[in-house]
Amino acid sequence: MSIPDITLNDGRTIPQLGFGVYQVPPEDTKKAVTTALEVGYRHIDTAQMYGNEQGVGEAFAASGLAREDIFLTSKLNNGYHLPDDARRSFDATLKALSSDYVDLFLIHWPLPTRYNGDFVQTWKTLEEFYREGRARSIGVSNFTPHQLRRLHTETEIRPAVNQIEAHPYFTNDEVRAFGQEHQIAVEAWSPIAQGAVLGDPVIVTIAESLGKTPAQVVLRWHIQRGDIVFPKSTTPDRVRENFALFDFELSGADMGSITALDKGEKGRTGPNPETFDYVPS
Ligand code: NAD
Repeated sequence: MSIPDITLNDGRTIPQLGFGVYQVPPEDTKKAVTTALEVGYRHIDTAQMYGNEQGVGEAFAASGLAREDIFLTSKLNNGYHLPDDARRSFDATLKALSSDYVDLFLIHWPLPTRYNGDFVQTWKTLEEFYREGRARSIGVSNFTPHQLRRLHTETEIRPAVNQIEAHPYFTNDEVRAFGQEHQIAVEAWSPIAQGAVLGDPVIVTIAESLGKTPAQVVLRWHIQRGDIVFPKSTTPDRVRENFALFDFELSGADMGSITALDKGEKGRTGPNPETFDYVPS
């Protein structure tokens, strides 16, 4: 099955469907990613904060795939926003991934209440990685429109993506619309809300009518919205299930019913990026 590519604003492409490894323990990561690569995933989303980049690198090395056949994303850890810290941690990311570049590197959280709110200097450090060719694309995660506007006016390179929480209970359409208007691709994290949306009667009914699973219906809804997704699972059957999204289509009416499940701010499962200030100790 071939996965569609999305073209980013820097001209590079990213597979619209990938595999996420948040909360996959380091010792299980090589196995989980190996399964995903065997199923056919070619886009892996990790982060310095997840502590499992090494396992991703080991799975890639063992796969026999050529480097250009896989798309690797990682993210700058909170607490490493100062330029020299970011440089050191980025070097460690490349080493852990056994690669001399990442396809996409993101600022994981804007941390507007730390570092005097200066995520702009952090972004300028990512611009360095981009110019050196060590990050083929650069982007952000959990940025709000006003934070993106600051980058727009104070820096040179526009983020290629903004990775944000989005799922049927938190459609996050205001931030998505800003991205669409400014050619910043949207990556939807926790696309099935870590399983919380899968028992919803609206989703279950649509799934039954199509002979698909609730997870497939929700992931397909994201795909038809045009967003990039990378569901996480360490269960091989689910890893396969989450990959089988391209042999059916949701009607306009089904798309609308799922979007109408939005609960606004109440549906958010993760932290609010305006106030989140966690840094690892
Ligand atoms: P997810 O929405 O992908 O849900 C994962 C959970 O759902 C699994 O642990 C499993 O319990 C369940 N599940 C998966 N497939 C299923 C299936 N087919 N049927 C039933 N249950 C199933 O949640 P996530 O892992 O939080 O998000 C996906 C990825 O997004 C992460 O792995 C990570 O790469 C990224 N992410 C990024 C941020 C960020 O701040 N940038 C935050 C959270 C997640």
